[in-house]
Amino acid sequence: MTTLVATDLDRTLVHSARAAGTVPDGVVCLERRGGVATALLTPRTAQRLVALDRRAWWVPATTRTVAEYERLALPRLGVAPRYAVCANGGVLLVDGVPDAAWSAEVARRLARSAPLPEIARRLGTSRDADGCFLVARGAQPDGLAAWCAERGWRVDAHRDKVHVLPVALTKSAAVAEVRRRTGAARLLAAGDSPLDADLLAAADAGIQPVDGRLYAAGWRADHVAVTSGRGLAAGEEIAAWLLRGLRPR
Ligand SMILES: [Mg+2]
Repeated sequence: MTTLVATDLDRTLVHSARAAGTVPDGVVCLERRGGVATALLTPRTAQRLVALDRRAWWVPATTRTVAEYERLALPRLGVAPRYAVCANGGVLLVDGVPDAAWSAEVARRLARSAPLPEIARRLGTSRDADGCFLVARGAQPDGLAAWCAERGWRVDAHRDKVHVLPVALTKSAAVAEVRRRTGAARLLAAGDSPLDADLLAAADAGIQPVDGRLYAAGWRADHVAVTSGRGLAAGEEIAAWLLRGLRPR
């Protein structure tokens, strides 16, 4: 039975030095920005990802843009997922190339929301992520969420970073497309943030880290486990849980 394993990356499987907690010796670094490690994982997590990639359809599902995803040195681990979901579902990479059919489908779905430039003007930002959504820095303008909701957009704010996305732009929609193409019978998922809730909800089973924003927001589901560890340890636990989930029950 084929299983599709769709996972968020940042703060789920890889952690910045700031989010990592205790950093053990031999930790693997997949990305550095401005001299700071921004994507760490333990050798055990790395080994488990290689095993996942061999034994299932492992599909990274991230809000990172394509360029940000490509900055991660996944090939260093010896893994090259056939499918990867970027831009929170806006881009489906197939063998590293954006899939035109999926992009056309996304454009159709997003036509129900107000156009991006209108939202960009309200936000006072022109920083779009692969043309799919907007990222702004600083405090969230008053009434932004309600204003966006009226226009078919939603807001996810964390620290000084505000993501504003069309309601229809979801990881779960892109992962459903991969599931259709691969014919995978089961879907396992992992994620830590409110933008992962739809993916976890759509999965047959999933796992979220106990130190994630989604957990902190009170999100729970009977079919979604919670790690006991935090930071890099949670990453190890999630990878192990997903591997165990590949075994027939
Ligand atoms: Mg995340």
